[in-house]
Amino acid sequence: MFNEKEFQLKLDSCWPALPKKNLDAKAKSNYFLSIKKLLTAKNAVLIAHYYTEPEIQELADATGGFVGDSLEMAKFGAKHPATTIVIAGVRFMGETAKILSPEKRILMPTLEAECSLDVGCESKDFATFCKKHPDRTVVVYANTSAKVKAIADWVVTSSIALDVVKHLSKQGEKIIWAPDKYLGSYIQKNTGADILIWQAYCVVHAEFQATALSALKKEHPEAAILVHPESPPEVIAKADVVGSTSQLLKTSQELPNKKFIVATETGIFYKMQLASPAKEFIPAPTMGPNATCRCCAHCPWMKMNNLENLKEVLEQENNEILLDDEIIKKALVPLERMVSFKHA
Ligand code: SF4
Repeated sequence: MFNEKEFQLKLDSCWPALPKKNLDAKAKSNYFLSIKKLLTAKNAVLIAHYYTEPEIQELADATGGFVGDSLEMAKFGAKHPATTIVIAGVRFMGETAKILSPEKRILMPTLEAECSLDVGCESKDFATFCKKHPDRTVVVYANTSAKVKAIADWVVTSSIALDVVKHLSKQGEKIIWAPDKYLGSYIQKNTGADILIWQAYCVVHAEFQATALSALKKEHPEAAILVHPESPPEVIAKADVVGSTSQLLKTSQELPNKKFIVATETGIFYKMQLASPAKEFIPAPTMGPNATCRCCAHCPWMKMNNLENLKEVLEQENNEILLDDEIIKKALVPLERMVSFKHA
């Protein structure tokens, strides 16, 4: 079962150094030119996550690539005709792309970009846990390794987690949920399902502070509060809208409010601002009375992707995601269930 002390030690051992400094405009434009040429020459497409640096997202859009959440990224990669997919995100996203497109070459600017949820759910421990509860359906979040997905009955993203669990619960199924404890308890509360919850968490979303959020709302009473469900329950309780990154982006365009307080990784502000230039987006606080922050709403691993290592990976064609065929075969089953699931 999950051990908090071991989790902290594992996180310390893979915590990355601070990201490189921002490039000036000329250097950035040179990188854009070189990377565009390399993408064409290598028949490659760049797919980036919403939490990467704005310049990576800008480049993905400018080169006919894609920016989205992990499910949208994998779906886009599977449909795109390029033979090489470059995933700017964290490792499980590269693995998901490989499982859905095993015939393609999947490269990543770095293979060291972890996710605390993946780190906190090691496949051997999780398999042992699942074996102790053979009567339960295993539902795992997309933020897990290929090996953990290979153990699962279902893979879900935050945009479909509630609907999938509701659907399973209606059929009388009892569930194991992993790895995010906050998303797990949010689902449990909103579906009433019988769920055993693994206890890992996202180090970025776990830092949002409810008391400081209330104080910020008092300063901006007209702002709508948007919260990602990987946040602690007391933060979720203050939300006007709770949703996945894509859902929050959509909501920020649809609601009439001119101001938003946003409790998710700040990389999404780039797309929110682009879609609604006249609106104001304020990061939800990660510091409050007696609190400190380590991530401060920035995912340290997402920020490992930069123009330098992106150019390097295309030049050297290294950092390829390689997975065992058997793992691909097993992990594909719950992933395909996710991709073909129709919302209720
Ligand atoms: S923001 Fe959290 S869930 Fe997303 S990749 Fe970073 S650590 Fe993982």
